[in-house]
Amino acid sequence: MAVPTCRDMSELATDYMERALPWRAFLAAWWHLRLCGMCRAYYDQLARVRRLLGRTPLPGPSPEVEAAVLAARARAGDAPP
Ligand SMILES: [Zn+2]
Repeated sequence: MAVPTCRDMSELATDYMERALPWRAFLAAWWHLRLCGMCRAYYDQLARVRRLLGRTPLPGPSPEVEAAVLAARARAGDAPP
C-alpha cells in the first residue's frame, strides 16, 4: 500500500488509533504520521479528545426523569431491563 495522503489520514485516524487497520495500512499510516507534522497534530488532538471523552461518563437523565420513565414503564407492564 502506498503511503496515504493527508486526506486519507483524516479518514484512517480513528481506525489507526484503535489498531483496526490491516498491518500494511497501519504501517503506512504510521509512516505518514512520522513524516507529516500536520497529521501528527491532528492525530494528537483526536487522541486527546478521545481520552477526555473516555473519562467523562455519558450524561444520563435526572433521577426525577428516570423515576418517571420507570413508573410509566411499570404502569404499561414493561419491566425495566
Ligand atoms: Zn499528512
